[in-house]
Amino acid sequence: MKSLTRIAKEKILIDSDIKQTYMNASGQNQSATVKELLHYVDPIPVERRCLDVLNIFIEDKTLFTAPIINDNNVPVGLIDRGRLTEIFFKPYARDLHHRKLIGEIMTTDPVIVDINTSIDDLANITINAGMRHMANGFIIVENSAYIGMATGHKLLEEITQRKQQDLYFLAHYDQLTGVPNRLLFKDRLLQACQQAKRNKSLFALVFVDLDRFKQINDTLGHSFGDQLLINFAHRLTSSVRESDTVARMGGDEFVIILQNLTEAGHAEKVASTIIDNIRQPMQIYEREIQITASLGVALYPLHDDTVDGLIRKADAAMYEVKEKGRNGYIVYSEVFDHCLIERNSLETDLRMALNNNELSLFYQPQIHLASNQVIGVEALLRWHHPKQGLISPATFIPIAEESGLIVAIGEWVLHEACRQHAEWVRQGLPSLRMAINVSAIQFRQQDFCACVKKVVEDTGIDPKYIELELTESVVMTNPLQTVTVLNELRSLGIKLAIDDFGTGHSSLSYLTRFPIDRIKIDQSFIRNIHDVPANEAIVRAIIAMGGSLGLEMIAEGVETMDELECIKNHQCQEVQGYHFSRPIPADAFKDWHQELMKT
Ligand code: C2E
Ligand code: MG
Ligand code: MG
Repeated sequence: MKSLTRIAKEKILIDSDIKQTYMNASGQNQSATVKELLHYVDPIPVERRCLDVLNIFIEDKTLFTAPIINDNNVPVGLIDRGRLTEIFFKPYARDLHHRKLIGEIMTTDPVIVDINTSIDDLANITINAGMRHMANGFIIVENSAYIGMATGHKLLEEITQRKQQDLYFLAHYDQLTGVPNRLLFKDRLLQACQQAKRNKSLFALVFVDLDRFKQINDTLGHSFGDQLLINFAHRLTSSVRESDTVARMGGDEFVIILQNLTEAGHAEKVASTIIDNIRQPMQIYEREIQITASLGVALYPLHDDTVDGLIRKADAAMYEVKEKGRNGYIVYSEVFDHCLIERNSLETDLRMALNNNELSLFYQPQIHLASNQVIGVEALLRWHHPKQGLISPATFIPIAEESGLIVAIGEWVLHEACRQHAEWVRQGLPSLRMAINVSAIQFRQQDFCACVKKVVEDTGIDPKYIELELTESVVMTNPLQTVTVLNELRSLGIKLAIDDFGTGHSSLSYLTRFPIDRIKIDQSFIRNIHDVPANEAIVRAIIAMGGSLGLEMIAEGVETMDELECIKNHQCQEVQGYHFSRPIPADAFKDWHQELMKT
């Protein structure tokens, strides 16, 4: 298995826009209006006498506030029980006021709102207009005509209820995608276990992990990543029944509870549907992107009957899919427990590896064919695990990338390779090109150029001997930012190569827009090239086109004499492969080189 960046040769097509509008994920209608609060109160015409109005209030004990309208049914004021009482309880008030029109004593600044006003706006209007309106209530109009009232009490009730819903939502749902969060999921899983036990039924827990999300997030940006997660959650939800639960555990990890299965095989069918749905191209902002996911399935009660047990087993099955190359689903089996422990402990061990000096670099020579001279080396990382022995970068680089450790490790590699270069020169070796692999995640670090610069200064290497190897996907994603970084590196005098060329989806002519010096033709094209016409045709085309574009070329993975001869016939300038030497430790390389010089 190759590293994350290496395998990230999947299609990232660039196309048009996605605009998906999401309802508030709590299911609340954000645009709830005062319609919810509306109740009808008989309006009082503005010319009614005060005494009549007083009688209305005396007769209807439940009436606290009444709207006052003009001839056109347009509200002009408000009268409330408090105001009437205040006036008529004074001595001689009845005699003084009974003939007056209600228009003369009414409150003339009521809050009047249109039926379409949102609850939130009404709350703001009330706060701004003075809280006394909470007691009086509000007049509601439609096209300026009176249609009813709303009380402050009702408004308060509505707001409180909405607040409670909001709080519940905040605590139980994922803010980004709107699906249940870990807390609610655990609760639902417990319920599912209890229900399945009662009904002697079957259900499945599916762990879903988006493949290479970290890389997408790091290279295409966090808002792209967020939108991707929203779309992803949406695809998951629409792939299952409404009664099933899709939840987000955090990051790019989702879980699904598939309820009431009639047979175990159904879980696999759903998993396969999900995989298919996710694979469909997805448009985010200006891009069309194809993503995949890894699914692990555990069944109740077949694999476990506890919440934690099911989670652990679905997770183990999911990791098994990752190990097998992602983009698929696997149903749990006991053998995976062991793998999970192994992976987790590898990650823990890898954290220590740097400090414990367990990492080292091996070097593999690069040969210039015309002169038959060694002109460079590629530095290849090795991990000498205290218990497991030598571990291949193909195994631990993906772990380093997923855990973010690659940044520190990559920095160490840069420094160590340049330090070794200087040491060899001191030991009398000619200055060779030092090819160093760079992970996408490392390349996207803000301070990558500064880090390279510092290594150059610290080690004293002449930067023209450094060649950084990047993959096509690194260059193709976020081209604008890439060009800037590449130019900055170039200005330091550093050379740039595209590694594993031909396995990505970029075209050579597109790549030449970037300041690149060399392409490394992937070893899959070199393998048995003399016997596989398709490989030969591809290599011939790459060499012809690369040559016409002024790029230098190196063929990787040359193992046999036949392969070498064929490459030579196609006028590739340089080669690298087991045919000359496997990657070997620094001292061994020095001896090998000195031996070579003697012959
Ligand atoms: P790569 O950069 O394409 O390196 C070439 C790989 O091909 C090396 O595998 C090398 O040992 C192997 N190889 C060379 N000649 C032959 C041959 O003739 N036949 C065959 N079958 N294989 C050959 P290795 O050392 O296991 O590294 C695997 C990958 O791990 C590298 O592929 C690179 O992607 C990654 N890697 C290695 N070191 C580093 C590092 O320091 N940083 C990063 N980010 N990635 C690294
Ligand atoms: Mg390489
Ligand atoms: Mg390569």
